[in-house]
Amino acid sequence: MSRLAPGVLREALIDTAAIADNVRQLRRLTGVEIIAVVKADAYGHGAVRSAAAALRGGAARLGVTDVAEALQLRRGGIDAPILAWLHAPGTSFDEAAAFGVELGISSMDQLQRAGAAASADRPVWVHLKLETGLGRNGIAPADAGAVFAEAARLERIGRLRVVGIFSHLSNASHDDDLAALARFHEGLSAAAAAGLQPQVRHIAATAAAIDLPQTRLDSVRLGIGIYGLSPFEDRTSADLGLRPAMTLRAAVAAVRRVPAGQGVSYGYTYRCERDTTLALVPIGYADGIPRQASNAGPVLIGGQRLRVAGRIAMDQFVVDVGDAPVAVGDEAIIFGDATLGAPAVEEWADAASTINYEIVSRIGPRVPRREVVE
Ligand SMILES: *Cc1c(COP(=O)(O)O)cnc(C)c1O
Repeated sequence: MSRLAPGVLREALIDTAAIADNVRQLRRLTGVEIIAVVKADAYGHGAVRSAAAALRGGAARLGVTDVAEALQLRRGGIDAPILAWLHAPGTSFDEAAAFGVELGISSMDQLQRAGAAASADRPVWVHLKLETGLGRNGIAPADAGAVFAEAARLERIGRLRVVGIFSHLSNASHDDDLAALARFHEGLSAAAAAGLQPQVRHIAATAAAIDLPQTRLDSVRLGIGIYGLSPFEDRTSADLGLRPAMTLRAAVAAVRRVPAGQGVSYGYTYRCERDTTLALVPIGYADGIPRQASNAGPVLIGGQRLRVAGRIAMDQFVVDVGDAPVAVGDEAIIFGDATLGAPAVEEWADAASTINYEIVSRIGPRVPRREVVE
């Protein structure tokens, strides 16, 4: 790594080649088609660039939460199949249909609104979502018969095409996930009996796709893994053959020599034990650095692993660098690829009692993303 460009306080470097490689690696590992999940601005990595990189790596389809996210990809020039699965009550699917967005359908009402959005010459493509125990959306087993029958009728009259049937797992335990998979297979049998022939059956996200081969079916929906992060507490990115795609860094904005006893940041929760140098790192909780990681989050400055001193503020935090020759403008790496010496995202997640997903997806809009190809 190098210094930041003049005038740049902070930035997230996005290694899109890593995203493409991670998709290739997970495709080799699972042996099935990949639905690359790029919801929430691709977990903070940038939706359009991440989608393009995932497609270069061989992803067959993209997954997002809502139709607005799918339309953002279309506006960005992405013409691959896109599935969106969470919808505002009562929204029209006209725009989704016009832009060829596939819809995850969780109720009879959504199914009928999808059918109503079809044009004379083009059916709307849907994936029926079954509730198999997560307790979120999805068609309940008691409603499935009626929904399947209506979907088959809409297919016959050319308004819908049921491309897929899917569900989502709890990751509570292998047993819980296998029980959900069994319920999913019951749903698939009922759908077949109703005359539906979905080509894409999918239930696994990253964790199950790696750990539970029986859940791979026709396709897997991969989010965290394509960004090079591990969904497991006991396995790192490198253990899974993945490379973290985001490096978050900032330029040291001020350096000051202080005497022993100096208090640091709001509330003086840190006091310098001896004469020392304090470096100011210009990124804070408004940028997604969790305040809960105050006095704990790791930082790499000048090849040295250091720690946040005192409270993380809205725009900045302080690091006690001791007698190291740190200067204004030096690079402070907040997290990145641990195999290259950077703190891992997971260390920040641990420091803030959360998970890597939340750390990367909350990096805020004030942090410019810059695409790099390593
Ligand atoms: C977010 C999400 C995924 C991706 O999960 P990862 O654990 O990041 O792989 C897959 N499916 C659904 C329905 C999701 O909401």
